[in-house]
Amino acid sequence: MDNRVSSNSPQKTVFQPVPAQPDYHEIQHRILKFWEQGRHFYRLMARNRGNPKFKFLDGPITANGPMGVHHAWGRTYKDLFQRYKAMQGFDQRFQNGFDCQGLWVEVEVEKELGFKSKRDIEKFGIDRFVEKCKERVLRFSRIQTQQSILIGQWMDWENSYYTMSEENNYSIWYFLKECHRRGLIYEGTDVMPWCARCGTAISDMEIATEGYRELTHPAVYVKFPLIEREGESLLVWTTTPWTLSSNTGAAVHPDLTYVRAKLGDEVLILAQDRLAVLGTDFRVLEEVPGSELAGLKYRGPFDELPAQQGVEHRVVLWEDVSANEGTGIVHIAPGCGKEDFLLGKEQGLAVIAPLLEDGTFQEGFDWLTGRFAGEVAPDIFENLRSKGLLFRVEDYTHRYPVCWRCGQELVFRLVDEWFIRMDPLREEIMNSARQVRWIPEFGLDRELDWLRNMSDWCISKKRYWGLALPIFKCRCGWFDVIGSRDELRQRAVAGWERFEGHTPHRPWVDEVKIACPQCGSAVSRIKDVGNPWLDAGIVPFSTTHYLSDRQYWQEWFPFDFITESFPGQFRNWFYAILAMSTVLERCSPFKTVLGYATMKAEDGREMHKSWGNAIEVEEAVEKMGADVMRWVFARHNPVQNLLFGFKVGQEVRRKLLTFWNIYGFFVTYANIDQINPVKLRVEPDDLTLLDRWILSRLNSLVKLARNRLDDYDCMSVALAVEDFIEDLSTWYVRRNRRRFWKSAEDRDKAAAYYTLYHCIVTLIKLVAPIMPFITEDIYQNLVRSCDADAPDSIHLCFYPEPDEKMIDLELEREMKMVRALVSLGHAAREKAQIKVRQPLSRMIVSMKSAGSRDWLLPYADIIRDELNIRELQFADSDELPGSGLIIQEDEDYVIGLDTSLTPELEYEGIARELVRKIQNMRKSAGFEVVDRIALSCQCSGKLEAAIRMFSDYIRQETLAQDITFAPLVDYDSVAEFAINNCPIRVEIKRERK
Ligand SMILES: [Zn+2]
Ligand SMILES: [Zn+2]
Repeated sequence: MDNRVSSNSPQKTVFQPVPAQPDYHEIQHRILKFWEQGRHFYRLMARNRGNPKFKFLDGPITANGPMGVHHAWGRTYKDLFQRYKAMQGFDQRFQNGFDCQGLWVEVEVEKELGFKSKRDIEKFGIDRFVEKCKERVLRFSRIQTQQSILIGQWMDWENSYYTMSEENNYSIWYFLKECHRRGLIYEGTDVMPWCARCGTAISDMEIATEGYRELTHPAVYVKFPLIEREGESLLVWTTTPWTLSSNTGAAVHPDLTYVRAKLGDEVLILAQDRLAVLGTDFRVLEEVPGSELAGLKYRGPFDELPAQQGVEHRVVLWEDVSANEGTGIVHIAPGCGKEDFLLGKEQGLAVIAPLLEDGTFQEGFDWLTGRFAGEVAPDIFENLRSKGLLFRVEDYTHRYPVCWRCGQELVFRLVDEWFIRMDPLREEIMNSARQVRWIPEFGLDRELDWLRNMSDWCISKKRYWGLALPIFKCRCGWFDVIGSRDELRQRAVAGWERFEGHTPHRPWVDEVKIACPQCGSAVSRIKDVGNPWLDAGIVPFSTTHYLSDRQYWQEWFPFDFITESFPGQFRNWFYAILAMSTVLERCSPFKTVLGYATMKAEDGREMHKSWGNAIEVEEAVEKMGADVMRWVFARHNPVQNLLFGFKVGQEVRRKLLTFWNIYGFFVTYANIDQINPVKLRVEPDDLTLLDRWILSRLNSLVKLARNRLDDYDCMSVALAVEDFIEDLSTWYVRRNRRRFWKSAEDRDKAAAYYTLYHCIVTLIKLVAPIMPFITEDIYQNLVRSCDADAPDSIHLCFYPEPDEKMIDLELEREMKMVRALVSLGHAAREKAQIKVRQPLSRMIVSMKSAGSRDWLLPYADIIRDELNIRELQFADSDELPGSGLIIQEDEDYVIGLDTSLTPELEYEGIARELVRKIQNMRKSAGFEVVDRIALSCQCSGKLEAAIRMFSDYIRQETLAQDITFAPLVDYDSVAEFAINNCPIRVEIKRERK
């Protein structure tokens, strides 16, 4: 009997046939077009408007190049949580952000224009240069938008925010004015790391993030002759020879032991622990504690330079001196080093500042003047040698700060910069950080650690493209901070007309002058632009119109959620938004942050184009598929670095293919059976144990997904979905195949179709936020094609809700036990080397636990079918027969498998093996599932006997009209093989319809 009689009449296909593999590339491009035409995103926003809000704040991406594949990681989190909330009906802003201003853009524009220094910019014209910077930002924000759309991100792209906007810039003015009102803004002299090429100071946070490289420099041992002791010198060591020009002190540790050592005809002073520096040919004259050296005066190594005239050089005490390297005596140049500067201040040492903005020596340095500090080392050595002060030069490898934008080695330079005083804010910001839920939890400690140790915030940069710091400083020393455009207009005494109509950027805003209340002069803005983290830090306020629409701001502030890469952001964006929000509103601007680690290449190294292991976004999307890539991100533990590449993608593709195959299976048989799932009517009693089990698993999964996504944990959801797909495929579908294509009772068949359909459709809605394309594709085919009332995009559906009454945890637990028992049975078969197709007479199960075995009885059919045994018996373990059984056990069961074969069992095994071979032949010959065939089996003995005994079964399974033992007149496919060592030749031919 075969109920697929409909195959004889012309078929109406309900669903589009499903190809063997998903073509991710084709699907995503087709779906992108579908969304564009259907404007589903805007309809989703409109549908949710006015509902309870989910407030997400996008950390702005720097619009200075195409985005990298590591951005796609973060964007996947941003997109999937917003999509999830949207499917729950939350009203959202969906606003993307672009970071626009700052040195990073300037450096790239300089490269484009072939500029070498700031002089080139000034020659070109600051106005034209700034316009070029704006153009670059707009160009790359468009490219990044396209890339984001390609990976499936839904945002209100026409409403992205730009940190170069007037609203953003003027909001920072307001913030700085507030800082000034609280007495926090000051101009300070400090020694800062300085990039000579970029002509700007590099802030602490920039150095801490990515500013070091392993470099080798010449280190030099130099003699500083003592003034009152002829023939006696301090032996000093430095790795930055050019700074010797500005030496004003030598530091020793008060508690270290120093020695006077005779070497040839001179006496050298150094730490006892560093005597090895002198070689072996010396004699120690005396040991001296460091504290006794304090105050000794010496002749500096470059006393002849004009800048050194009148400077007194002396030994000072310093707790930070160590005897681990060098000589235990540290050369101090307070104008060339941060610690030197602080120590010099404390000890009253003279400060000599040798370098100009471009890293060359300024006037007063004789033969050094005009030369670049990084290049003078050989001449310094030669000069010292000629003066008899050089002791030795050697190579020294250390971590040295470099410019994070252009890679040039930094120098330390005495500068005037503008700062926000952080000490008065430190505790308040720490309190704000404590209000936040940090995922992972260690984020709080990292942030607090930074906040505890941060120095004052250096907000100025001597550059062109950036926030125009609204600080106006008069020659007489008076300064003020302007808080708004209106205030500037009111206070302007000149130049307003040249500024009006322009954005608040250089050079236009520099035209405006205000009056000095102290001396009456017309005062200009300082030339500096702002640190770009001010730009990104104000966005919780600027994007919610804090200044222009306070009610709107109140509706959207503070934000529920942000997610960014952890490394770096503690000192950057997290810090900036926490600090600025604390000043303005004394609270954190966000409630929860999800941090994630760093992306590396599959080989564990950084991704680098030159190493051939970098992957571009477009490449990943086209080759791997956006959905696959997003699944790779979603299933990853965000705390760990992600090793990303096509191999990882391949593994995920395989997992997803299992699901695709289930979908394909459903469509194939539903089309044959002309099933319209919407019309299926199923009574609870129609559901089998397996139906109820998989529906329970499904509803448990829905419950878990909601619970975990509410907690911003998508990894648990992705992994649980993978488990579910595995269960659905290897247990539910495999155990139920026959219900879909055999002469099942109508009600039983309907229950199977109903159950599988429900699983697939619920599952695609469940993972739609993670894999927006393929789920849309399946939805269109499975749901829209037969249900005109369904929303016309999966993303307009509501997120599935668990049906609690379908959840039966007891059933799920028992099925787990059953599957464990079944794998013991399979292991016993393997041990006996008997294939599952060979039926066996019985399996005897003994339970180790004392409890009842009755719970297992309802599962007996499933177990017998799965293991292909006739009878399942129960026994106490001491009742198991001693021989004739293959024994397997685990912590719950002992089982014995009876492997003795009757002829009938053997014949059935043969028949099953033959059916499998013929099915394969049908498949390779390209027959349709419903094609009927003529079948010839040329064999004798056991095989012939088996075929005669099971001919009905064989005909039914292979759709053979008849079985003959003679050759066919002609055939479509032939195969010769052996079953149980007996040869057989099989011919098949497709029958005319
Ligand atoms: Zn630089
Ligand atoms: Zn003045």
